[in-house]
Amino acid sequence: MTAGVGRGPVNATNRVVKDMGMADRRTFLQYTVAGVAIASTTNIVLGVGRNEATDVSGTDSIQVNVDVLVIGGGTAGTIAAIQAGRLGAKTLLVERNSQLGGAMTTGGVAFPGLFDAWGKQVIAGIGWELVRESVELDGGTFPDFKKVPKRHWQNQVYTNQFLYVLLAEEKCEQAGVQIAYYEFPEAIRKTLDGWQVDCVGFGTRRRVLCKQIIDCTGGAEVVGMLKLPRLRDKETQPGSMLFKIGSGHKPGTEQIHRLYVHGADSSSAATVTAANLAGRRDILKKVRASKKKLMHLQPETAFRESYRIVGETMVTHEDYTSGRRFDDAISYAFYPVDLHTRSGVRPKPLAPDTVPTIPLSALVPKDSRNILVAGRSVSSDRLANSALRVQAPCMAMGQAAGVAAALAAQQQTTPLSVSLEEIKRTLRAHNAIVPG
Ligand SMILES: Cc1cc2nc3c(=O)[nH]c(=O)nc-3n(C[C@H](O)[C@H](O)[C@H](O)COP(=O)(O)OP(=O)(O)OC[C@H]3O[C@@H](n4cnc5c(N)ncnc54)[C@H](O)[C@@H]3O)c2cc1C
Repeated sequence: MTAGVGRGPVNATNRVVKDMGMADRRTFLQYTVAGVAIASTTNIVLGVGRNEATDVSGTDSIQVNVDVLVIGGGTAGTIAAIQAGRLGAKTLLVERNSQLGGAMTTGGVAFPGLFDAWGKQVIAGIGWELVRESVELDGGTFPDFKKVPKRHWQNQVYTNQFLYVLLAEEKCEQAGVQIAYYEFPEAIRKTLDGWQVDCVGFGTRRRVLCKQIIDCTGGAEVVGMLKLPRLRDKETQPGSMLFKIGSGHKPGTEQIHRLYVHGADSSSAATVTAANLAGRRDILKKVRASKKKLMHLQPETAFRESYRIVGETMVTHEDYTSGRRFDDAISYAFYPVDLHTRSGVRPKPLAPDTVPTIPLSALVPKDSRNILVAGRSVSSDRLANSALRVQAPCMAMGQAAGVAAALAAQQQTTPLSVSLEEIKRTLRAHNAIVPG
């Protein structure tokens, strides 16, 4: 099947072409006719050759057998999947939206931080590779990590959200990761050597048999389905809807305007719908008041806070601000304590030379087997979480979870039973910076 050719309202297309100059018309036709063949992608999405069958109602029923199932293809999940795939694990990435990157791309906050602390880089690996390549392809610029900036955000990296999506998909494909968009898990049960996860999407039902799950949903959704304990405060930080009025968004060079969405809750279709409606309603008011053009609008609210897991270890505010070096630290983290409230945010910087760490055991839900969590729902108290939630540590957690899950699947064991030294060695071999 070919997309982009011979589709859509032909008369409307002809009318547009007629109104153009010759040069414009040539460019328009080039871009219109080029199209893409999606047959090969379909093989990836449906997992061809893996027992799929089509039922009489037209719904695709697919059954796949994988080593690692990553649920949530956002900031952490994309990196987790690429890492597991690069280690040879058969990996499936299930994402309920239409693209990878989560808060960075669908939310529009393509300003990852912080990869550096006190004059040197402290987070690298696959997340940094993806950010660096996005900036390079975009002809963008990097902050100088040798300099300690006056304000922390001066060392965050302006990234082109659109290129990031394209490169993330390319890297997944190169790592052999199957991507399943528009799907989410509906039911999960334990099997002898892992999990059976039933996912649904429109026109698709997919039964996944897997050895390991990595929950990267941002709200520990899978952990919730398994009835393992999660924490959420009564009041959570506001989300934001990102948009631009007056002048067009220049990706990779600036931050987009943000409007707080108070009470934004990412935990269900109903609550995400409510957040989107409220955010867009406010933006419409702003457009009317400004009498300027609306030039850019992200498709979904970006969410700052949701459920956090209760892990084997919980990172506390004291651990974070004292720069505690956990024995099982798999990554550094660096960012001010950054809790947004109704009245805004006052970041509290860390004391000089303090660089907190993240332990592997904070990615492991308490008393669980064969499931890890990476990203903003890491086991932490609320204040520690307000700093750990930013993009560079989320990517680092994703990479560590990818390694631990892939090795556990290979060794037919659970992540905490894999040798910590082997996890750290593997992370370093894949360019991550590991404390110690
Ligand atoms: C407004 C705002 C501004 C921010 N500014 C910055 C900044 O400047 N710099 C910075 O570094 N950080 C910033 N952050 C923080 C950071 O962007 C996020 O905390 C981080 O990206 C979260 O990563 P994650 O992987 O945990 O979740 P996400 O990136 O949100 O990814 C979760 C993914 O899981 C998917 N998903 C959820 N549930 C399911 C399900 N049941 N099934 C399948 N898929 C599912 C979602 O669609 C999403 O793609 C900001 C956050 C917000 C909201």
